[in-house]
Amino acid sequence: MILQGIAASGGCAIGPLALIEQAAAEIDVTATSTRPVEESLARLTAAVEASREDIELIAATARERIGAENAAIIEAQLLVLDDPEWHEPVVEAIHEGATAEGAVWRVSQEVAAMLAALDDPYLSERSADILDVGQRVVGHLTDRRRQVPTAGAARDVIIGAYELTPTDTLDLDLEVVRGIVTEVGSRTAHAAIIARQLGIPAVVGAKGLLDAVSSGDLVLVDGDRGTCTIRPGEDEADRARASTAARAAREVVVDPVSTRDGVAVQVLANAGSLADVERAVAWGADGIGLFRTEFVFMQAATPPDEDEQAAHYAAIAEAAQGRPVTFRTLDIGGDKPVPGLHVEAEANPFLGVRGVRLTLANEDLFVAQLRALARTAAAFPGIKVMVPMVSGLEELDQVRALLAEHAPDAAFGFGTMVEVPSAATIAPELAEEVDFLSVGTNDLTAYVLAADRGNTGLDYLYDEFHPAVLRTLHQIRSGAGATPVSICGELAGEPRALALLVGLGYHQLSVSGPLVPEVKSAVRELTAAATAEGVAAVLRARRRSEVDAALDILAQLGMR
Ligand code: PEP
Ligand code: MG
Repeated sequence: MILQGIAASGGCAIGPLALIEQAAAEIDVTATSTRPVEESLARLTAAVEASREDIELIAATARERIGAENAAIIEAQLLVLDDPEWHEPVVEAIHEGATAEGAVWRVSQEVAAMLAALDDPYLSERSADILDVGQRVVGHLTDRRRQVPTAGAARDVIIGAYELTPTDTLDLDLEVVRGIVTEVGSRTAHAAIIARQLGIPAVVGAKGLLDAVSSGDLVLVDGDRGTCTIRPGEDEADRARASTAARAAREVVVDPVSTRDGVAVQVLANAGSLADVERAVAWGADGIGLFRTEFVFMQAATPPDEDEQAAHYAAIAEAAQGRPVTFRTLDIGGDKPVPGLHVEAEANPFLGVRGVRLTLANEDLFVAQLRALARTAAAFPGIKVMVPMVSGLEELDQVRALLAEHAPDAAFGFGTMVEVPSAATIAPELAEEVDFLSVGTNDLTAYVLAADRGNTGLDYLYDEFHPAVLRTLHQIRSGAGATPVSICGELAGEPRALALLVGLGYHQLSVSGPLVPEVKSAVRELTAAATAEGVAAVLRARRRSEVDAALDILAQLGMR
């Protein structure tokens, strides 16, 4: 049985399932306490303090394991314990006769539900934090802590849960846990972000999971495809084990790589935090081809000012140790809100005010970012800056006018992303006006096919290997002439796409960090000159099945 969920953290893992129970699940929130109110309040205080100590300890581990900025996710939970909107109703409910655990769990659920109902991804993450804290306090009150497998437990297990909290994720023992699957959650949930940082394959939002499994069942988590196979067949299990072993044994290649016939292919990494950059360097990335600056904004309570951004970007550039870094200016919109920044709700956020449209409409915000990036470039050569969601030359004109006025000495290479079909069509004109282009295949695929990339109901349609997408990639690369063009969408890391992309003339690929070693090894196996005939056949393909057949032939040609 295969459950389709959301691919939250890449890689495959197979093993027996260890189900995590919710400590608070059986709490009767309507029960009346038999203890005196004073005693219940004292229990509450003790449990809150014990929880505070837990969270401080976990935050300290988090700082070591996932870097200070990601640890802020955990530190934010301390604020919940002190938040009067959580604390006061709990005390009130105890005064009204509730048990301490009943009061904590009821109020936590109510506050969380209220935040979740606001339909704002940032606030719904806060809602997950409140439930996480509520569970922890209830765990102390009832002496029933959530049991997360730690050292001494069975090895190579897959963690299954209704939902995994950020602190659960950090508690996992990496020696024991091989993968994660949850019934609810999103790719941007904090637990998913932490799983990616830790390199644990994870699938979230696998609906029906808890009804379909029991602890001990063999499950296969495919964090690249977003699937969870329950009790896989032997062949499938062997394939997954082989792929996991190959990944574990991959060689880290620090030097730049070329194909067998000497075509240099730069293999860069995508990153969103300092920890990502540090890992990318360790995996042998030749640089950072896409630094998503929105994460710097999403993890702060208010938008960071110019000085704060300059300090942050300098730390990123420093961590890249002289390798080039391409910063992408803020790419947010109705779908990716930023705390402290008002973004109008729109009927069609993906066709709305996002990326450069939003930053041009918020000039102060944009100018602060451009100036911070200019300061970074003054100190670190090799810094580039690119603008997301560009649809025409006018937007670039406006960005340039802002730069001329507010950061006239900016010394960074200036480029644009190509992720809107109009930009693909005018690639020759864009290429004449910028230092480089970078193709965002994630959005480009969505816009070429008019299929939302996050809509699981359209999975069958959202396909980077659709003939129209592949021909668009050809159109961009050939239209851009001598201007460098990289690919920074997920397609760049697809093994099946490598020979095609190199054959089309894409010699800069920016991939998710853990894929760098694999892509570098594959480049060294490839003979670029042998791919021409196969590339032409792929571009002639009319249906997806023909694309597949042509890609198979291309793979054989490229390996000659
Ligand atoms: C893309 O659209 O391909 C891209 C790299 O940007 P993001 O995934 O951040 O939208
Ligand atoms: Mg994009």
